[in-house]
Amino acid sequence: PRDEARRLAGLLAESRHAIVFTGAGVSTESGIPDFRGPSGLWRRIPPEVFTIEYFLERPLEVWRLFSEFFYSFRGAKPNPAHLAIARLEELGVVKAVITQNIDGLHQAAGSRKVIELHGNLRWARCMSCGHKVALDDAVETVRRGQLPHCPRCGGLLKPDAVFFGEPLPDDALEEAFREARSADLVLVVGSSLTVYPAAYIPEYARRRGARLVIVNLEPTPLDNLAEMIVHRKAGEFLPLVVKELEKILGLN
Ligand code: NAD
Repeated sequence: PRDEARRLAGLLAESRHAIVFTGAGVSTESGIPDFRGPSGLWRRIPPEVFTIEYFLERPLEVWRLFSEFFYSFRGAKPNPAHLAIARLEELGVVKAVITQNIDGLHQAAGSRKVIELHGNLRWARCMSCGHKVALDDAVETVRRGQLPHCPRCGGLLKPDAVFFGEPLPDDALEEAFREARSADLVLVVGSSLTVYPAAYIPEYARRRGARLVIVNLEPTPLDNLAEMIVHRKAGEFLPLVVKELEKILGLN
């Protein structure tokens, strides 16, 4: 791993605008299961549950599952992968983190420029008028066995996380593509790169000439476009990369 870490540190040191693109795999070492990995959530909850169609058909059931699984991850702590990514930004090398995660752990680790493509665990949103309510309040209602409704218009509240079949937030998507256009290196961490349109971002950056590096336990569909592929645990590997980069930058 030391050689791989040194090589990636070298690529990062050469870059002028590196960005990081993360998926559920960056948070598994914080105890949050991913969807498709070896102990992924799909083994317990069928994927169609988090489609917008299923939510509209059976909102209380989906609210319950969402509260049980995702909301319970609010107590999770950033792991060494999140901390290493934050440090890369602090060192001036990484300019932005684009994440598919809703867990808020990049911000908790100290990353400042975080683009959340799939929403977060802070809010519930009214499906009729768009009004936002603290997710805590909505979850409390669900735990009393009731569907949460909008205090303004009475519409149905939905977790402000993007469900399959829903569009991504415009502002986040626009910002992510802006970053992808500026990037000369994209570091993918812990993503199966199969969820679209999110996965199009690293692909787009690569096709515009950025270098692509993938740190993921399993192969991905973009492996053939990658300059470097590392099949290691992000929380073990990325701190080594930081160490090597600090050496290159003369910091230790
Ligand atoms: P995914 O579940 O499709 O893939 C995760 C990938 O990470 C897998 O390929 C797995 O091999 C790899 N992985 C697992 N642990 C790893 C580790 N320690 N180090 C390196 N790689 C590791 O995840 P995805 O591509 O992010 O797509 C799933 C969708 O579900 C996304 O939209 C995501 O937002 C959402 N999701 C979010 C969370 C969260 O917020 N933490 C959790 C589950 C799912």
